[in-house]
Amino acid sequence: SERIVLGPLVAAVDQGTSSTRFLVFNAKTAELLSHHQVEIKQSFPKEGWVEEDPKEILQSVYECMDRTCEKLTQLNIDISNIKAIGVTNQRETTLVWDKETGEPLYNAIVWLDLRTQSTVERLINKTPGRNKNHLKHKTGLPISTYFSAVKLRWLMDNVPEVHKAVLSHRAMFGTVDSWIIWCLTGGKKGGVHCTDVTNASRTMLFNIHTLAWDPDLCKYFDIPMEILPSVRSSSEIYGLMKICSSLKSGSLTGIPISGCLGDQSAALVGQMCFQDGQAKNTYGTGCFLLRNTGTKPVMSDHGLLTTVAYKLGRDKPAFYALEGSVAIAGAVVRWLKDNLGIIHADTDLEKLAAAVGTSYGCYFVPAFSGLYAPYWEPSARGIICGLTQFTNRSHLAFAALEAVCFQVRELMDAMNQDSGIPLSQLQVDGGMTSNRLLMQLQADILCIPVVKPSMPETTALGAAMAAGAAEGVSVWSLSPEDLTEVTSEKFDPQINPEESEFRYARWKKAVQKSMNWET
Ligand code: ADP
Repeated sequence: SERIVLGPLVAAVDQGTSSTRFLVFNAKTAELLSHHQVEIKQSFPKEGWVEEDPKEILQSVYECMDRTCEKLTQLNIDISNIKAIGVTNQRETTLVWDKETGEPLYNAIVWLDLRTQSTVERLINKTPGRNKNHLKHKTGLPISTYFSAVKLRWLMDNVPEVHKAVLSHRAMFGTVDSWIIWCLTGGKKGGVHCTDVTNASRTMLFNIHTLAWDPDLCKYFDIPMEILPSVRSSSEIYGLMKICSSLKSGSLTGIPISGCLGDQSAALVGQMCFQDGQAKNTYGTGCFLLRNTGTKPVMSDHGLLTTVAYKLGRDKPAFYALEGSVAIAGAVVRWLKDNLGIIHADTDLEKLAAAVGTSYGCYFVPAFSGLYAPYWEPSARGIICGLTQFTNRSHLAFAALEAVCFQVRELMDAMNQDSGIPLSQLQVDGGMTSNRLLMQLQADILCIPVVKPSMPETTALGAAMAAGAAEGVSVWSLSPEDLTEVTSEKFDPQINPEESEFRYARWKKAVQKSMNWET
């Protein structure tokens, strides 16, 4: 049969907290041609601990690549048209491996993990005035369990293999992007040990002004700089795909890996938020609202993070973002499914909640991993309040969806206060946005329209664009005009603002209880 001629294609690995995907786009139209997705197991070895297996992560990347290439072949699309591969990933999740054996020395400690809570408290207590923002002027971040440096410190202190490997100069640290790129470019046989500025900016070891690892921060956390990856821009050729024994189809061999962005940065790029003031919110395991602030980092007075948004080329300027991060969004859906068993599939939640269309005065604060923005309170814990004899699982399902919306409202309020210019609509993406009830509720609770692109894979699109635009690849121009075919769906607020404010005020009371219930 005839081969279809499409021109250049660009692919992306999207390694998220819940799943891994590999996707192939047409570089002229941004059309998604084929993809494959594999769920990732999470383990919870102790209360508050969250781990994933680095080898399973890698295998899932290979499996997604193989299956996507098979699907393309079935569609008569020539795999040799793929000109570049981008990588986007769950951020902050921390790995250490042995550069000589290529073996991970412990599981990946996932960003949500709380094992470093006592370390964080000790560090904060040592700062003048017990100030969690002691390192913010350099890093844009509060001292928190969330970021990689404390997780790496824990690994060096508690895992003898890691300690030994550091002493014998065999240890390599990386976030998930570094692990994947190192493995795909050859691993122990000459793999490239690198990361990009966006991922580096989430470690707490990176100076977001100079865009380099900071010797004082490394000294502060007592981390040897030799174990850190080299920091590159988000769009340049890092290395070429090597055949790996586990990759059945060697067909991607030799293709440059030329894009790398943390998932939230990639979504910002994929949503074309290139202008100062443009914002997007992604609903995945957590929720992340990012607002582009241009080429200058802006420090928040309302509990938001300052982060590197992207740097699309070695000679291009870095752009920054204000970010509101919520730890638990889609994770509450997984909890209702796996821990309570009140739903069997993610998609059941919408039907269950829609059956009642109200929480009937029930408020659910899913502070499973403490509270992130705008509170940064690691000791907060989840609560459900307002229960009556009448409350049933449908009300609880509705309260869970509403909790996601209220948390995003808190982020938006903080963002509006910091910037002085209120958002007039919210661009959204991520796995949870397939839930239409959630989208309508979100518009109701924000009192502004919510706009969702019809191609939901914006995170992968952003990484593919960065890869395709890299010097030496240059098959993608990154200009919004090229994506004229992008269509979207709009959800307008349908309840009156007083009703919305009333519920939001109740939510705020519930949040206060989640922070104080122990005392
Ligand atoms: P990540 O990038 O963090 O891996 P995704 O963007 O893939 O996350 O979104 C997956 C999350 O969205 C999971 O937590 C899942 O439970 C949730 N989710 C997916 N579909 C739905 C749905 N229809 N309703 C509610 N939650 C959903």
